[in-house]
Amino acid sequence: QLATDNFSEENILGKGGFGEVFKAVLEDNNVVAVKKLLVQHARAKEEFENEVRLISNVHHRNLLRLLGWSIEESCLLLVLEYMPNGSLDRFLWGSKRGTLNWNQRYEIIFGIARGLAHLHDEFHVKIVHRDIKSSNILLSDDFKPKIADFGLARFQPEDQTHVSTKFAGTLGYTAPEYALHGVLSEKVDTYSFGIVVLEIISGRRSTDVGSDAQSTYYLLENTWKLYEKKIHIMVIDETLNLNRHEQEHVTKIIEIALLCTQSPASNRPT
Ligand code: ADP
Ligand code: MG
Ligand code: MG
Repeated sequence: QLATDNFSEENILGKGGFGEVFKAVLEDNNVVAVKKLLVQHARAKEEFENEVRLISNVHHRNLLRLLGWSIEESCLLLVLEYMPNGSLDRFLWGSKRGTLNWNQRYEIIFGIARGLAHLHDEFHVKIVHRDIKSSNILLSDDFKPKIADFGLARFQPEDQTHVSTKFAGTLGYTAPEYALHGVLSEKVDTYSFGIVVLEIISGRRSTDVGSDAQSTYYLLENTWKLYEKKIHIMVIDETLNLNRHEQEHVTKIIEIALLCTQSPASNRPT
């Protein structure tokens, strides 16, 4: 159903580790994104199977839909819903830098939180994404976020936090307990989410925030504990170097993001 002329240089939406993503028009005129992975890469097949297995069972408005897939001789194709505004990183330090207003930023943060809550809480086995970062958050035409790229996602039984498999993820976004000791739980995604929140607020890359990122983690961890005790106190770490105006935004954002990811589904803001 997919004509090969869709896969030309001019239709490229993005490039990744093992292939490229193209904008394509189907026979029925629907526009989709096609992720093409080259089979030559040993890990491409693994990631392909992962994406198919995990995401075809999961439906949520903040998780990118998989519409179909096919295995061909030289490549593996994933047909995904098309996201006209591309990935979040473009709006932080790419060509659209500085164009998101605060309301859009709130919406994006809450949307990611809802998507994560779904992955972590809605199934009898948690799904850990393992690669939450701004290039894997895609935006619809009205800037609603969807979590994409399930190539590294894993089912994670609760009683099994240590994994022997090699560390996977992206430097700058990875929780220290996972990077250093291989301890894998859904908290790994929460840490990365914290970094993304910081990026959305500051417009700076995770790799540039350095020690700020560390302090954000402890900030989130502390806020977490306070939240569980229903104490609504937010402490904004001074090392983040935010002005008063920005701090107010951070406080509000973290408060609501925590509400989205921590409370029972029925209490979550929609
Ligand atoms: P990889 O696993 O190689 O990182 P991704 O699935 O993250 O591949 O896609 C790479 C890039 O392609 C994304 O960062 C984004 O810019 C673009 N992209 C991917 N899927 C879509 C889509 N459905 N709509 C629009 N752009 C997309
Ligand atoms: Mg990616
Ligand atoms: Mg990937």
